[in-house]
Amino acid sequence: MTMNPDASSALTRETKNQRLFFALWPSPGLSRELYRVAGRMLKREGRRVPPENIHLTLAFLGSVGASFRQCAEQAAAAAIRVEPFTLMLEQIGCWPKPGIFWAAPRHTPEPLSELARQLNAGLSACGYTPENRPYAAHVTLARQVRRAIKNPVIEPLPWEVRRLCLVQSHTHADGARYEIVRSWEFTPPAP
Ligand code: ATP
Ligand code: MG
Repeated sequence: MTMNPDASSALTRETKNQRLFFALWPSPGLSRELYRVAGRMLKREGRRVPPENIHLTLAFLGSVGASFRQCAEQAAAAAIRVEPFTLMLEQIGCWPKPGIFWAAPRHTPEPLSELARQLNAGLSACGYTPENRPYAAHVTLARQVRRAIKNPVIEPLPWEVRRLCLVQSHTHADGARYEIVRSWEFTPPAP
């Protein structure tokens, strides 16, 4: 039997040493506010995400090499032809099974759906398999929270979103540290 030629291609041979994901990154002020909201609702329960780590994931790439990263960056550049938008974080919830406590918009704005769709389409062309469950925009605020949350509505926190970030995750014994390695301002097509 012969080996699949793909198995020895440059793509699979290079070191996949960067753990990357695409995300929206809140301002420090909004992150602090979200951190406080989680503290108020959870008291000491669960493990809060530190403010500097709070984000909204659009696509998780995992550990990749340089050529995949390059392809993914092209996909990002092609996906950002959307209008800047306001994301209203007004709902708090918990998925007790994975123990995720989150904040989310009640309605996903069209530019965000479009961005996620375009990004996934571009990444697919790079050989990435997008998640097949529907995209549920959420910001993880704490982990290891295993109960239903009683009061799911909060004072809406508006988030002015104007750029897409490529983020590298550095894993340490005491948790992940995230580094924005590149970002793209949204540039809607001229009317
Ligand atoms: P840790 O894994 O150390 O607990 P983390 O999950 O925050 O921390 P990463 O695993 O690097 O850090 O994940 C980065 C982002 O991608 C997070 O928002 C995480 O929820 C998301 N993510 C991680 N793995 C997946 C996956 N398999 N599918 C979808 N999203 C993922
Ligand atoms: Mg993880």
